[in-house]
Amino acid sequence: MTAYLFETPEVVSVPVIGEDKEYPIHRVFCVGQNYAAHAAEMGSTADTEAPFYFTKQLHSVVMSGQEFPYPPGTENYHFEMELAFTINKPLFRCSALEAASAIYSYGCALDMTRRDLQTAAKDKKRPWDVAKDVENAAVIAAQTKASDYGAISNQRIWLSVNGEVRQDSDLSDMVHSCTDILCDLSKFYHLKSGDIILTGTPAGVGAVAVGDDIHGEIDGLEPVQLKIGPAD
Ligand code: MN
Repeated sequence: MTAYLFETPEVVSVPVIGEDKEYPIHRVFCVGQNYAAHAAEMGSTADTEAPFYFTKQLHSVVMSGQEFPYPPGTENYHFEMELAFTINKPLFRCSALEAASAIYSYGCALDMTRRDLQTAAKDKKRPWDVAKDVENAAVIAAQTKASDYGAISNQRIWLSVNGEVRQDSDLSDMVHSCTDILCDLSKFYHLKSGDIILTGTPAGVGAVAVGDDIHGEIDGLEPVQLKIGPAD
């Protein structure tokens, strides 16, 4: 047995409603600009040909219902409310049918973003990593099994800050569906159990401040909650 020089990372996992066992997360893929109105507010146009992606490392993943400090290195930290889903089968260059059968669960998620650094990166044609791959910035709520949830159609997706609704849309506004995303993403990666995909945010993104309570919901799923604490 291999011995290590220091303690290895703990497994990061998310509860699944009705299951004793949690879903261990391996990788976090995120889709950019998957709602036309959000693409427009970012000064862009949604690409209907194919989704595009960025990733978050496991240090970004935290469970819903906690407080985390306002992160370092930004003065414009934004909320993005999103539908997340997980898979439980290997997928590589998959068909839509294979993709649909691999979707294991759905849940609410927040893709917290250093918007100032993202804007600067776009301007300088640099990568988005420090804008998106932020510690504690992928907030995940308990998952609902796809078999218990049924089809994604026009479920409402919304987010409020301190009780005031800021994002309000429905899932039928997604440019690329969950199965479309898997068909495309599996051209680039050997997807497998443990992969979670955040599917993009509707319009209405905005800045948070210390003390804010962020609350996001999608019809029929567990809400996601985050409190912004003082910077550390
Ligand atoms: Mn996002």
